Formats: sequence, structure tokens, C-alpha cells
Amino acid sequence: MYYFTHNNTTIDNTTVYSEISSEFDSVSSRYPVQFTEYYSGLIKKPHDGIWKQCMPDSRELEDTAQRPDPLDESLLSPVPGLIHRYPDRVVLLVSNCCPVYCRFCMRKRLVGSGVSPMGRDDLRTALDYISSHPSIHDVILSGGDPLMLDDASLSHILSGLRAIPHVAVIRIGTRIPVTLPARITADLCSMLGAFHPLYINTHFNHPDEITPESATACAMLADAGIPLGNQTVLLKGVNDSVETMRRLLTGLLKIRVKPYYLHQMDLVQGTAHFRTSVRTGLEIMRGLRGHISGLAVPHYVIDLPGGKGKVALLPDDVEIQGTTLHIRTYTGETVTYHDVTTPQE
Ligand SMILES: *Cc1c(COP(=O)(O)O)cnc(C)c1O
Ligand code: SF4
Repeated sequence: MYYFTHNNTTIDNTTVYSEISSEFDSVSSRYPVQFTEYYSGLIKKPHDGIWKQCMPDSRELEDTAQRPDPLDESLLSPVPGLIHRYPDRVVLLVSNCCPVYCRFCMRKRLVGSGVSPMGRDDLRTALDYISSHPSIHDVILSGGDPLMLDDASLSHILSGLRAIPHVAVIRIGTRIPVTLPARITADLCSMLGAFHPLYINTHFNHPDEITPESATACAMLADAGIPLGNQTVLLKGVNDSVETMRRLLTGLLKIRVKPYYLHQMDLVQGTAHFRTSVRTGLEIMRGLRGHISGLAVPHYVIDLPGGKGKVALLPDDVEIQGTTLHIRTYTGETVTYHDVTTPQE
């Protein structure tokens, strides 16, 4: 079995269990706790970057200041399981479970809860909605983790989407290459390869998640012709230093994964102990740009409350005075640049 749940605790690492047993009961009754043998096996010592991402912490229950759904995803849902915020793309929540319940999850209100996953009727309604909105060109399968579905169910959803002519791009957001890499099988890859252009965004947060197993999972997906991106969440005590972030991002390039987004933590209830300041995020971005391969540098985005959308933030490196720009370089030097354009006739 892959899963280690509260009621089926067979964690062989007894120090892990004795450390968390008191927190298990109180936290898991509110927010489900689950991890895989593979993922918990990456823990090197208590409270390291892997531990913090998967082990319950009583501070989850103390954070009551924020709302469970600050992005108002439920208000932007015209039919069950579909979020339509931008004109040309939608998110389809096809699963509500994951192999590991990340303690910082932005959909903490939904994952692993009693909310039922998308059934056949909801799927039909969602596909009809997409069919009747020709402006939708990009469909993102999310959840929960879409790869928790079996191959046949996933193939059924993908076929339904490919039957809609205006859906150009399909994306899958999944953390399974990180938490349960054995799920990436040859059969899954050949099935997915039939639905191009199909993109996968995975979710690595820490360099210790880059292992021979996760590298193999990514290689199999890439070999199936699937471009791989990565979305990292900026997490206090996990990856909120330039050094850790550089190791993570450059490590991802080596396994053919292109860093896409670095997310400022959403203001989701139960996750406050992971939140860093935006200032910290901007300082980390300053430590990346110019210092490591440009290919490894993600966009640092903040998803604004109330469903206002994602905005990319950059360190403040330019001061504009008319056509004279004072620009700060990656080494900290200020260079004057004259913004000369050809006068129009
Ligand atoms: C993030 C997100 C998208 C995709 O945004 P991109 O910037 O295109 O990656 C689409 N819809 C919703 C609701 C989102 O949260
Ligand atoms: S894998 Fe993604 S959806 Fe699932 S718990 Fe982790 S962050 Fe949330």
C-alpha cells in the first residue's frame, strides 16, 4: 500500500510518529492527514523541509484570521467543479484527493474532504459549459490531483475535451511526480501522449524532492512529448532562502522541468505559519535573476484575493526620469540607460 493514513498508521520511522502523534488527532479531525511511504521517506530529520510540508502542525488550527476561500473560487464557479475567472481559460476540479495532503494547500477547504469528486453528470455539465463558450482555449485539470484518477477515467475526460474544437491547450496540474512517482507508468504516458498539445505543471517545493524516482517520472512524461513546467509555493522554513531556491530551480532544469511560477502563499485559513512576506519573495527573486540561468527563473506571482487574478511581481529595479532610466543590475550596480526611439514622421 502507498498510503499512510491516521487509521492505518504503519509508519516504520517511529521517531516520526512519536513526534506527531499528539498533533495527529487534533489536526486530522479538521484537515485530513495523509502521506506516502515514498514521500515521508524523504524526511532526513524532524522538522526539515519535507516534514513541514506533510506533517500536521497544531498551528493549522490556530489560524482563524483568514478565509477558507480568499480567491472566491466558489463564486467564480458557474457549474460544479469548474472555475472560470479569465475569459480564455478555465480550471476543472476533477479530483478532490491527493497522495499527500500538503499542509499549505490553497484548496485546504476541499481536498480530502467529504466533497464528492466530479461525477459523470457534473463532467457532462462542465463539458457542455466549455463547448458553449468558444472563448475558452485552455483547460486546466486540477483538484486535488487529477492523476489520482485511473487511466480510463482520465482518458474519458481528455477525450471529452479534445472533442471540443476551440479547446487548443490542455494542462494538468499534478504533484504526483513529487509525492507518488510510481504512478507515472508507461501506460499513463502513452495514454496522455495521445492528447497533445498537453502540458503538465508539476509542483516541486524543495531540492530534496528531486530524487532518482521523481527524475524518472519527469523523464517518462517528457519522453512522451509533454512539456513540463513547475509551480513552487514560497514556504517559510521550507524554501524561503536564495540558496535553497537556487538549488531547487537549477535542479529542476536538470530533470527537464521548466520553472513556471513561484507563488506567494494565498491567504488561506490554516496556512498562516507558512507565509513569508512579499518583501522576502522579492529579495529571493533579486537573488535569482542574472545569478542563475534565465531558464530557471520563474515568475513570482501573487493571486489577488477576490478572484482578481494573478499578478507577476518584480523587484523594483528601474527608476524612470523622462527618457533616462536608472537601472539596477544583478550585481547591484546602477546603470543609466537612454531610452532613445526614432522620432515618428
Ligand atoms: C492560475 C489560474 C489560471 C491559469 O493562469 P495562467 O496564468 O494562465 O497559468 C486559470 N484560472 C484560474 C482560476 C487560475 O487560478
Ligand atoms: S498535491 Fe496540490 S492539491 Fe493536493 S494537497 Fe498538495 S497542494 Fe493541495
